[in-house]
Amino acid sequence: MSDEVDVPEDHPRYQSLLTRHRIEAGVEKGITSTQGLIAEGRGEAFDYLLGEETIPSADRAARAAAAHFLLAEHPVISVNGNVAALVPGEVVELAEATDADIEVNLFGRTEERVRAIAAHLREYGASEVKGLTADARIPGLSHERAKVDRDGIYDADVVLVPLEDGDRAEALGEMGKTEVVIDLNPLSRSARVATVPIIDNILRALPNVARHARDLSGSPRETLTEIVEGFDREGALDAAERRLREGATRESE
Ligand code: ATP
Ligand code: MG
Repeated sequence: MSDEVDVPEDHPRYQSLLTRHRIEAGVEKGITSTQGLIAEGRGEAFDYLLGEETIPSADRAARAAAAHFLLAEHPVISVNGNVAALVPGEVVELAEATDADIEVNLFGRTEERVRAIAAHLREYGASEVKGLTADARIPGLSHERAKVDRDGIYDADVVLVPLEDGDRAEALGEMGKTEVVIDLNPLSRSARVATVPIIDNILRALPNVARHARDLSGSPRETLTEIVEGFDREGALDAAERRLREGATRESE
């Protein structure tokens, strides 16, 4: 990936510049919305405060997320324009590691963008991408924002919704789904309503969930259930908030 942006890899802001470049390229390619640019800026500010690293509580959340995915009957990874621009290969890898579906699901849905994202994901090796049928609705949301595939998110028992807006995260929760949210802001409603909030940059979190999934694959269901039940979501949110407010001074993260 080092050739995709003209910045030396030892530049202190290399990762951040690369991220911005990917989002910008996503906008040019028609897969990311201009709203996505704003979301990216907000995320960066939180990541800066987190120390741009996966804190221990976020790693535990990633492991719990992996266990949920492995226990699930029908896990689905929801993909929006930022996710597609930033981590297309990692989405495909996680789907393969956990036998999950991939579904494009957009806040500002247009048929054209759904198609562009699906094509982009296929370039990165996805065999099937859902989200185009849009023959079911999430109850409690206005028409366009509610559209999902009946045999995708609508049917899923576990959904990974990275960078989701709070409204839809809440509505999915009300459908009884187990929700894994990746969001750098522990105060955002999406993180607050999640069964498993992973407060981390999606660039680090997604490969981390896949790594845990590979590590846990083949584990007995009891082991996975123990991991799921032992996860402390309030504790994870609190630990992330403490890190944001006080920096890396506490031990109990
Ligand atoms: P709500 O409280 O309803 O959830 P919000 O302000 O979080 O509102 P959005 O505008 O959808 O709603 O915000 C996008 C979210 O995505 C922000 O919380 C931001 O921190 C997060 N975000 C942006 N980039 C990344 C990233 N690379 N990794 C993880 N999270 C990110
Ligand atoms: Mg949010």
